[in-house]
Amino acid sequence: MTAPLVLYDNYTRSLREFAPLAPDAPVGLYTCGPTVYDYQHIGNYRTFLFEDLLKRVLRWNGYRVHHVMNVTDVGHLTSDADTGEDKMEKGARRTGMSAWDIAALYTRTFEDDLRALNILAPDVLPRATDHIPEQIAFIADLEQRGYTYRTSDGVYFDTSRQADYGYLARLDRAGLEAGKRVDVAEKRHASDFALWKFSPPGSTRQMEWHSPWGKGFPGWHIECSAMAQRYLGDYFDIHCGGEDHIPVHHTNEIAQTEARVGTRLANFWMHGYFLLANDAKMAKSAGEFLRVGALVERGYDPLAYRYLCLTGHYRTQLNFTWDALDAAATGLARMRTGFHALAAADDASADEGLIGRFTVEVNDDLNAPRALALAWETLRGDAPDAVKRATLARFDEVFGLGLSAWRPREEEAPAAIEALARARADARVAKNWAEADRLRAQLHDAGWEIEDRAGGYALRRRG
Ligand code: AMP
Ligand code: ZN
Repeated sequence: MTAPLVLYDNYTRSLREFAPLAPDAPVGLYTCGPTVYDYQHIGNYRTFLFEDLLKRVLRWNGYRVHHVMNVTDVGHLTSDADTGEDKMEKGARRTGMSAWDIAALYTRTFEDDLRALNILAPDVLPRATDHIPEQIAFIADLEQRGYTYRTSDGVYFDTSRQADYGYLARLDRAGLEAGKRVDVAEKRHASDFALWKFSPPGSTRQMEWHSPWGKGFPGWHIECSAMAQRYLGDYFDIHCGGEDHIPVHHTNEIAQTEARVGTRLANFWMHGYFLLANDAKMAKSAGEFLRVGALVERGYDPLAYRYLCLTGHYRTQLNFTWDALDAAATGLARMRTGFHALAAADDASADEGLIGRFTVEVNDDLNAPRALALAWETLRGDAPDAVKRATLARFDEVFGLGLSAWRPREEEAPAAIEALARARADARVAKNWAEADRLRAQLHDAGWEIEDRAGGYALRRRG
C-alpha cells in the first residue's frame, strides 16, 4: 500500500499512524452500542456507520478486525449525573411491556437496521445483563484498591484518587468542583460516578441483582470496562463512540480500567460527530426523532442515508435535511445505474493507479467525501468499461453501497410483449431454435431484451 493509515486519536488529540498492538492478531475494536429502551434514530446510525467505515478501511489495509459492540440493556440513567431513572425501566412504563421484553424487541430492530444499512455485524454483541458477575468482580477489585465509597444510594468511584482523571476530555476539574450543583447529593466530588446503584428502598425493580453491597444494578460505564476487558483484554487497539461520550462515559471507562489494570483501555480513541436535525441535536430523549423505518416509509432506500453519511467527514457534524437526503438518493441512483451500464469482463482487473489514490484518501483519517469524489471521477473517466467496473467494485468494499448486488427494477412488460416472450419460451421447449431466434429478434425490434434464467426468463426494456 502506498499511504500509511492515519487516524485521529482523541486521547492524544492528534493524527497518528495506525499500527496494531499485536501485529499478527486481529485488530481489537470496541464500539459503544445501543441503549435498547427505544428505537435507534438515524443520528445513532451515523455513529455506527462511521464505525463501519473504520472497520472496512482497516480491512482494506489488510487487517482482520475483531469487533465487539455492547448492548446496553440496564443501568443507563436518564441523567449523566447518576440521578435520573434507568432508561429501561422508563421505557417499560412507556410501552407497557417488561424491561426484558423491550430489550429483546429493540435489540432485534437494531439488528434489522444494521442489515438494512449494510453495516457489517459485530463479531460479539454482548448484553450488559449477561455480564453482571464480571461487573461485580470489577467493582469489588476497585473497592479493594481503595477507589470506591458508599452512599445511601450506591457505590461510587472516587475520581479524586486519579491525578489524570478526565484527561481524554481535558476536563477542567477545578471548574467542575467550583460549579458543583445540588444534584451531586452525597457524592464527594462532582465528577464521581456510580458503579453500583441500590434498588430504591421498598420497591422492586424489574432488573436487579444481589451484590456484596446490596440488591441493585450496575452503572452504565462499568459495563463497557468489564465487557471490553472480557472480550478484548486489558489494552486493545481502538475504542469508538459518538462525540457525546467523550466527557463522561469514555472518561469514566478509562478511569475504571486505569484504576484496575493501569491501562487507558485502548490505544486509539475515536469519536463520530453528531447528526443534527435542523441544526439542533437529534436525541431520543427530545421525543421527536427519525428512525430508519421512517425513511423507508417515505420511499427512501436506507442506503441513500448511508450515501449521505459518506458525503461528510466523520469528524464534522452533519445537518440532516430532506433535501440533503434527496440529493444523496439521486447520487446513489446515478452511481448504481452508471455502474450497471458498464460492461463486465471476467478477466478485467481494477486500475492500480486509482486503487492507490483511493488508499491515499481513505487512509487520510477515513476521508470518505474525497474517496466518493474519486469514485465519480472513475465512473466518468476514460478507462475501459470493465476496468472501471472492477475498480468501483473494489471501492465499494469500503463504501458498502452494494453496487454489484443492486439490480434495476424490472419494468412490467405490456401484454403483447409478454405473449411474444412466452411464445419464444415454448419454441425453446420444443427445440424450435429458428422460431425462438425469430421471436427474440421481434422482441428486440419492439425495444425489449429477453434474458434466459433458471426456470424462466426476464424481460428488460433496452436502455
Ligand atoms: P445510545 O443508544 O444513546 O447509547 O447511543 C448509541 C450511539 O449513538 C452512541 O455512540 C452515541 O454517542 C451515538 N449518538 C447519539 N446521538 C447521536 C447523534 N445525534 N448523532 C450521532 N451519533 C449519536
Ligand atoms: Zn460504552
